[in-house]
Amino acid sequence: PVSRPQEVEKARRDLPIIMMEQEIMEAIYENTVVILCGETGCGKTTQVPQFLYEAGFGTSNRAGRKGMIGITQPRRVAVLATSKRVSYELGLKLGKEVGFQVRHDKEVGSKCSIKFMTDGILLREIQSDILLKHYSVIILDEAHERSLNTDILIGMLCRIIKLRKDTYADQQKKIRSAKNVKPEDMISQLKVVLMSATLQLKEFISNRRLFDVIPPTVEVPARQFPVTIHFTKRTHDDYLAHAYKKVLSIHKSLPPGGILVFVTGQREVDYLCKKLQRASKRQIGKKPERVGDECGSRQEIDEKEIFEAYDIDRTEAEHQEDMFSSYGEDEMDDGLNVDSSDAEIESETDTDNDDEDSAAHETTEDGPVLSFLKHAESSSVLKASFKAISGISGESEAAEEFSNVTIAEKSNPSNPSFSKRTEPTSVSHGRLHVLPLYAMQPASQQLRVFRDIPEGERLVVVATNVAETSLTIPGITYVVDTGKEKVKNYDHATGMASYEVQWISKASASQRAGRAGRTGPGHCYRLYSGAAYGKDDLFPEFSEPEIKKMPVDGLVLMLKFMKIDKVENFPFPTPLNNESLVEAKRCLKTLEALDSKEKLTSMGKAMGQYPMSPRHSHLLLTIIKILKSQQGYARSNFILGYATAAASALSYANPFLIQGDTSRESNQDGPDPEHKDQNERKRQKKLKAMVREARRDFSIPSSDALTISHALRSFECSRNPVEFCREYSLHLKTMEEMSKLRKQLLRLIFHHSKFCDEFAWNYGGSEDVEQAWRSGTDKKPMLNEEELLGQGICAGWADRVAKKINTFSGLSKEDRKVRAGRYQSCILDDTIYLHRSSSVARTSPKFVVYSELLNTKRSYMHGVTSIKPG
Ligand code: ADP
Ligand code: MG
Repeated sequence: PVSRPQEVEKARRDLPIIMMEQEIMEAIYENTVVILCGETGCGKTTQVPQFLYEAGFGTSNRAGRKGMIGITQPRRVAVLATSKRVSYELGLKLGKEVGFQVRHDKEVGSKCSIKFMTDGILLREIQSDILLKHYSVIILDEAHERSLNTDILIGMLCRIIKLRKDTYADQQKKIRSAKNVKPEDMISQLKVVLMSATLQLKEFISNRRLFDVIPPTVEVPARQFPVTIHFTKRTHDDYLAHAYKKVLSIHKSLPPGGILVFVTGQREVDYLCKKLQRASKRQIGKKPERVGDECGSRQEIDEKEIFEAYDIDRTEAEHQEDMFSSYGEDEMDDGLNVDSSDAEIESETDTDNDDEDSAAHETTEDGPVLSFLKHAESSSVLKASFKAISGISGESEAAEEFSNVTIAEKSNPSNPSFSKRTEPTSVSHGRLHVLPLYAMQPASQQLRVFRDIPEGERLVVVATNVAETSLTIPGITYVVDTGKEKVKNYDHATGMASYEVQWISKASASQRAGRAGRTGPGHCYRLYSGAAYGKDDLFPEFSEPEIKKMPVDGLVLMLKFMKIDKVENFPFPTPLNNESLVEAKRCLKTLEALDSKEKLTSMGKAMGQYPMSPRHSHLLLTIIKILKSQQGYARSNFILGYATAAASALSYANPFLIQGDTSRESNQDGPDPEHKDQNERKRQKKLKAMVREARRDFSIPSSDALTISHALRSFECSRNPVEFCREYSLHLKTMEEMSKLRKQLLRLIFHHSKFCDEFAWNYGGSEDVEQAWRSGTDKKPMLNEEELLGQGICAGWADRVAKKINTFSGLSKEDRKVRAGRYQSCILDDTIYLHRSSSVARTSPKFVVYSELLNTKRSYMHGVTSIKPG
């Protein structure tokens, strides 16, 4: 018996998925695996768990449906938001029947029926319970996103289903022969639901024949309102400036309705939010007619600032789980910072742009539409659009600069608001209610997009990809799509990673547009041309699965750890390419995790226990080994504290914010941005100097990892961590996560000690280590200890050594300008660089190891530690 709040009952009635409840449940009863496809926002994530719950899954008193309903998400923000929502919808308190778990944070009661978690959490659980005995149903959500973990889970579940079937059959046999089976040991068969926002999933699951029986697909009919798509005539590079103008012109001339803007990263989000807030402030107290012209004018946009936002942002990671270090490029030589050629292009196109401001609807020009249609042939997404256009040919409304296409999705005529087209009569000139949304934001800030906004204000959410499918923000009528996303690419041959801002896939573009049609007819303004969109080399059909773009050493180790020896035969939805597999095995051999026959060594088994990259666990275990060999070293516990800190420091992005820049910390409720404007530069300069001075305390000149570890120690010992981070310009959320990981590592060391003598810690318990790490009178390791820690770090990255290049001959003028050390990597022919913000830069040692090579303007080493050969 479920009692939902009345408001929820009402909202549910409007969700397309509600009418499908019976069909979905029947498919689940009759099949082991079911694919469920439906538009983002149709109710998959919030409703399917409730259908199952009401059918008795997840409650222990129904035979065959015993065990929790587990739902995985690729993103933690979605876990938090939807678990909260589902518990509210069921009228239950979060943490009881409905629980969640993400890395370092969990609320799962003993009576949990529905558990939301990240895909990484479920993977970890499989390692300790291959049968997933605690679950009766596993739902993999957002499977179309093809995150690495979800892909692995699909492969794992192929096998787990069979295992569960066999175990179940055995149990039935026992029962029939009247043997005793303890009630708590009784298991059911496992049901699996793969949920996806696109039909692409159906194809790749069927094509690869992952499951014995091709799973049936249930499609939830979209109840999408028509979204008019507007392309620009031309494709411009300065998408931030254009997004800014577009938002203001929508606000100026179009009826109420929220605006969702897609940009590529956090810094762009912050930048645009600030700009928009400022513009909104200015507008108050002015005559409405003048507002738009004023705000849309070119002087509003400080070009240099924009370029900085682009550049810096490109070097930063969006996803926490897979990023390591990132330094801001503004530490680069000033001469290289502003690309003057780009600036020229911008002023050249300046005159065209002015018209684009008007979002008033006039007849469209034929050109872009035609070229757009020409390409429609080749794309299934476009074909759908094409069909739609032919149906609405009589309706011609478009901005002069935008060609437009209405995607009239199947709509529900019974919905009374469907035919109600918003007329541009009730134009609002209220304030903009601007909210940022990105992955690295504190959860409480992320959830603000679901709150009601003050009367008369217009909601503007500036978001990264997070808002593409995982979250449905209510009340969005307009989407401004820059067409860009930031992707981390990885070159298996060189081990070089780079963040690239690139065009999105057509599937993504269509998802983004769809966000505008949730509550009524909407508009999507694409800041690129229809012609560009039609080119498949610019806008591919689908995004590449993550498994193709990442090193897979951790994955191979995990599979070996789970006794899946023939990694080649593992049923990945997209097979690993040979190159990455070879690289992974080579890496694991260097780390002594695999022997020459590719069998797991005792080191490898120990490494598999830690929830981080094999390199990091190798670092930790090597230091433990060295300390054990130095019987009775008095400060062993203190050193172990540093070792765990170094391993977790290297697992996260560099927490040192670009000096003087607090935007990553910025709270949108903070001080009035307008006042900050005047003395901004002076203030920034002063702040930079202060932070630099303060940070000198942390510096351990032989290693970035140890410098961050020292900062982490000071952070953990500080009385007010928030204040501490502000003072030293550190990223609070990263520091918190790092600290949690460090503590978790320590717990694991002592937990595993029990099973493995070789790496068992015998200098006391975890409290002793904590105590020594916190209260060591010498806060920093002594020189010999620094070397010892350095050895451990070096062991983890032994294949990433670089040697300093001393000669100045053959140095290009540009190279000489860069105040960065030039190094020769052991695996690359190209010169790589030591960034001058690295703590090692001052001594610029002859040999270093680096944890990552990140290609921004040059190939920079990150997470550098100096080594002494021999
Ligand atoms: P799907 O998973 O199919 O994309 P969801 O189940 O996430 O759809 O969302 C269904 C509806 O519930 C949407 O209209 C969405 O706006 C609403 N919703 C989802 N999460 C929340 C939340 N945390 N707060 C308020 N409304 C929400
Ligand atoms: Mg969803």
